[in-house]
Amino acid sequence: MSFVKQIDYLPKELLTATPQSLHSLFPEPTLFHLTGKHEEPLFVSVLLHGNEPTGFLALQKLLIKIQDTELPRSLSFFLGNTQAANQSLRRLDDQPDYNRIWPGTEYIETKESRMTKEIVETMQQRNIFASIDIHNNTGLNPHYACINKLDNQFLQLASLFGRLVVYFTRPKGVQSGAFAEICPAVTLECGKPGHQHGVDHAFEYLNSCLHISQLLDQPVPPHDIDVYHTVAQVTVNQDINFSFEDEDADADLLLDKELERMNFTEIPAGTQLANVFDMTALPITAKDETGKIVTDNFFSIIDNTLQINKTTMPSMLTLDEKVIKQDCLCYLMERLEL
Ligand SMILES: [Zn+2]
Repeated sequence: MSFVKQIDYLPKELLTATPQSLHSLFPEPTLFHLTGKHEEPLFVSVLLHGNEPTGFLALQKLLIKIQDTELPRSLSFFLGNTQAANQSLRRLDDQPDYNRIWPGTEYIETKESRMTKEIVETMQQRNIFASIDIHNNTGLNPHYACINKLDNQFLQLASLFGRLVVYFTRPKGVQSGAFAEICPAVTLECGKPGHQHGVDHAFEYLNSCLHISQLLDQPVPPHDIDVYHTVAQVTVNQDINFSFEDEDADADLLLDKELERMNFTEIPAGTQLANVFDMTALPITAKDETGKIVTDNFFSIIDNTLQINKTTMPSMLTLDEKVIKQDCLCYLMERLEL
């Protein structure tokens, strides 16, 4: 029995579809295989999050360019949550997060996790060359690539996208974490949705990856790459009312509206992130990659403000309250010397 629909040709309708209209052609997640000169396929997944259209638009631009030509390398691609894309949502309420259900996930088995297992097995049987999963984020962030294994080929693949690389091992169940077990794998973060620059950057990257014959097993020169390691994920505690608006009288935690400007900037100890009211316990929780609570290592309350107490670099800080509730407030990172 098969859990994922597979198609081995390029449907022309794909070249003109929009992220919103895609579901009428492919109502379920679908895996495509196109054959090229090098047999080992490049694998690309897009729309694991339905409100992150850049990956699909970049892939579509690539498909338009390569239609009717001989591919330098086989290309397999996965169109993820087309139903959520129709509504420009990360996921629908009754769906799991499509980037937490891949092999290695800590969630219970579902039809979606059986599907992702089958995709990984299918790509392994086809001798996958490399895997690329493409996302947007909600905050003001530069473009960067994420890897889940510190390995020369992974670093080579990541540095083709840019000099900024983030290494993480949590959350579990992400696409790039699953593929890291069988081939070089990256997640691309292409900034906010809706910017042509993000689509063009991801397209150029995909086009390059399709044309390289091998990934070198050599270190990337240190001056070409900055690698950061995620050391904590920060969430706002469930019982806390937070807001970005001064007028919000109910708020226990009044977050600074300029927060997202701190993304990928080293912020010194003593930096204030929020005002707090009638509070002695910290309103947020920081967990390290093993799930251990490390909030006190990074945060203090001083004079009714929430402060950072050691130099750190945040990423993914966002002003989107729904994302803060569903996912997290931010990640904290430290530079890795390779
Ligand atoms: Zn995403």
